[in-house]
Amino acid sequence: MNEFSRKEFLKKTLSWTGKSAAAGIVGGTAYNFFGHSEYKQAFPNIPENHANVQSNGKTVLILGGGLAGIQAACELADRGFQVTVLEKSGHAGGKLKSWKDKKFAQKYFPDGYSREHGLHGVWGFYKNLREFLGRHQIPLNPLGEKESFYSFIDAQGVRNKIKPVKWPIPFDRIEMMNNGIYVPDEKDLKKPAPDLFNAFRATMKLSGFNFKSESQRMYLDSMTFYDWAKKLGVHDQFIRYYYEAMSDMALFMSTKECSALGIANLIRLGATPSETRVDYYKWPPDETVIGPLVKHLEMKGGRVLFHNEVTELVVENGKVTAVKTNQNLPAGSVRRCRICGNLIYGGVEDHCPYCGADASHIEVMTEQEKVPKTFRADHYILAMDIPGAKHVLMNTDLARHYEYFRNIQNLSQSTILCVNLLYENSDAWERMFPSGTTLSAVDFFPTGFKILGFTSNWSSTGIPGLRQKKVDLIEVQVCRWQQFIGKDFRSIAAAVHAELKTALPDLPEPTDFYINRWDTYTGYRPGDEKNRPGIQSPIENLMLIGDWVFVPQHSIFMERTNVCAKWVTNLLLEKIGQKEGKIRILESGTPDWQLDLLGLVTSVRV
Ligand SMILES: Cc1cc2nc3c(=O)[nH]c(=O)nc-3n(C[C@H](O)[C@H](O)[C@H](O)COP(=O)(O)OP(=O)(O)OC[C@H]3O[C@@H](n4cnc5c(N)ncnc54)[C@H](O)[C@@H]3O)c2cc1C
Repeated sequence: MNEFSRKEFLKKTLSWTGKSAAAGIVGGTAYNFFGHSEYKQAFPNIPENHANVQSNGKTVLILGGGLAGIQAACELADRGFQVTVLEKSGHAGGKLKSWKDKKFAQKYFPDGYSREHGLHGVWGFYKNLREFLGRHQIPLNPLGEKESFYSFIDAQGVRNKIKPVKWPIPFDRIEMMNNGIYVPDEKDLKKPAPDLFNAFRATMKLSGFNFKSESQRMYLDSMTFYDWAKKLGVHDQFIRYYYEAMSDMALFMSTKECSALGIANLIRLGATPSETRVDYYKWPPDETVIGPLVKHLEMKGGRVLFHNEVTELVVENGKVTAVKTNQNLPAGSVRRCRICGNLIYGGVEDHCPYCGADASHIEVMTEQEKVPKTFRADHYILAMDIPGAKHVLMNTDLARHYEYFRNIQNLSQSTILCVNLLYENSDAWERMFPSGTTLSAVDFFPTGFKILGFTSNWSSTGIPGLRQKKVDLIEVQVCRWQQFIGKDFRSIAAAVHAELKTALPDLPEPTDFYINRWDTYTGYRPGDEKNRPGIQSPIENLMLIGDWVFVPQHSIFMERTNVCAKWVTNLLLEKIGQKEGKIRILESGTPDWQLDLLGLVTSVRV
């Protein structure tokens, strides 16, 4: 090739590369902007998912009546299955249940205060849960335009806020960059920025994370997030400020305990800025979400049988042939907490020693409730929390024969301590986060505190009228609950109040409090992903669902429960050869070419 033609060749190549890149960007942008219209609805409408199929004569027993179990029950009942749910406690909904507390803040709630485990947010990228809620006409409580879920306060009093974005995908990220992800206070600007390049690299790697790649998943599952970030050279200040707040809020453990995968799951799903918006359930979820779903199930001939703790799976010739409940209860009077379902031994308490429900929920079991029972069905779906599943599996020899069941015994769970404090005649929150202004916030992420984890105000998120009465009902999800082992609830509440006052100095003394404690939260420690069971167990008629079960689709928490519920429904339809009623499962998050491209050019490996 002579000099001239080489130059000409290079020029042409550059020109074509430039044109292809421009066409790619324009095409990709148009694809993101115009495509996937159902994903852009607040409640995606998928007409083929509405089903009302006649009875197919098949029976299903669902073991555990949490969100996963109740959603699966509704999907299956709509498709002709005869469904029975067995639930150990006296309420459906599991970690989403709510119940009446007759003791707390009686002045404001003379008929009892509706209390729940903790505030539950429905993210924009929960496409399947939103599709299901839309189908069942269950509304959400949208956050005000100016309010942010992402407000940060650090222990030195420095405040930041990630402003909500309004521009449509794919322009939302331009608006977010324009707003600034990290919006420091004036005081903070005087500090040198800690090695932001490595923090940026980490965020890019996590935003491009491909959940479907087993090697990437297993790599992130093999170490703590802290170790992963340190390998990348991310500064401690950034880990503490940003990721620690996130792991406290979502995983109830520190970045030195949770796997890198736990955080990667959150970042990749939340990498589309407009989908990180959070809406809340209308308060209380028993009446607005779980109650209507149970009614729907009953209308379709299904039922939930409470006070039935599954204690044994009977397996004969490689099939589950029955489940047994309430075996081996002590003789005589047995007390059980209606809320968590645990048996209570010993003297009289003013609250359940396990979950903290007030004493009115501790009941003596009736003779009828105490009778061991046996249930049979064609198919069995285990929808318990991790401790429940471990306990039942211990009573079988399945773990001896199958690695699948052995792995479950190695899964971790974590503890949640949600401390709620009632402040009367208080304008402390309003002063810190004046409503209608750019500072307004319904919650905040405390960073660098000893006790405070994700902190929210029920007065601004859900309970009507409280704010007008100048009541702040503040919930602190304690970070590092281990510091309170062996401490009574009153001293925990006092310690939380003392630290809360450093973040909100205008708080008066609290006039009442309650604490929810649960040891059943799904853990995200290194190695957990490797041990997660898939939906189909090696026993043909036994399936598993719940937020701790593996589905080959990127999803988290309540969205995962919904994906599982839909997946198991399709699996059962396939098993019985029923074509009618197949559910279309969406991606959890609007498909996004920019993030997919990022995944092609970055790697989570360090
Ligand atoms: C404080 C808090 C805040 C949260 N915030 C959010 C949030 O903002 N967004 C989000 O997406 N998720 C959030 N979550 C997580 C969410 O609540 C869970 O992912 C979801 O509710 C799990 O549902 P599940 O059905 O898998 O399990 P569970 O709700 O645990 O249900 C399991 C059910 O099985 C029953 N059971 C156990 N053993 C037995 C047995 N032997 N026999 C019969 N029944 C049994 C239990 O009583 C329970 O009803 C939060 C959780 C908590 C606790």
